[in-house]
Amino acid sequence: MRPHLARLDRGAAGHSALDVIREEVRAIDGAFGVYGRPGKQPTRRIPQDGARGGRDLRLHVAGDVGSIEGAELLAGAAKRWRARGGGSVWTFTHTWRTVPRAAWGPDISVLASVERAEEIASARRQGYAAAIVVPEHPSSRAYRLPGSITPIVPCPAETKGRTCAECRLCLDRDLMGVAIGFAAHGHGVAQVKETLVQLGRREVRA
Ligand code: SF4
Repeated sequence: MRPHLARLDRGAAGHSALDVIREEVRAIDGAFGVYGRPGKQPTRRIPQDGARGGRDLRLHVAGDVGSIEGAELLAGAAKRWRARGGGSVWTFTHTWRTVPRAAWGPDISVLASVERAEEIASARRQGYAAAIVVPEHPSSRAYRLPGSITPIVPCPAETKGRTCAECRLCLDRDLMGVAIGFAAHGHGVAQVKETLVQLGRREVRA
């Protein structure tokens, strides 16, 4: 685990999941200057150095929301991020069974982290595109897993060395027809280590 993830875990110790989400919201709202009071006009714009203008924002990197209220708080933060000129906001969640997709709002792209191929269809019925960790990819092309008819697209960070800002599959594409696959042991796994940390950890930190 990278040192900053360990620091995040230490910082969250002793706090409730909602406390950590509120702190995350404060950090987002305060990034690149003070946002101002709720309901007021934004005071600072997000740097326009993203692939499509405003800088993209990956939520929490490690951890997850623990409740509908947590997702709704982040939905508000993402809305304000976009209002300040920010780019796409995206994340993964294990709580797709209990937190409705609608709670994340329209400004967050969120993929359901599923453990089994059979769950891809369940996640889709809940309104979520899915991501799944597989032992390894058979090739760099899309493939299917037993238990699902949904094509699995190998994460291009692993197969082609692309960054998320270049690939953008999880950021702003409609992925309801496919699922993203991450290889647990495949070539290039180091590039997506942080994603795998979030996909693989089931404890709810935020
Ligand atoms: S590189 Fe992988 S994790 Fe990043 S957006 Fe593309 S599919 Fe998603």
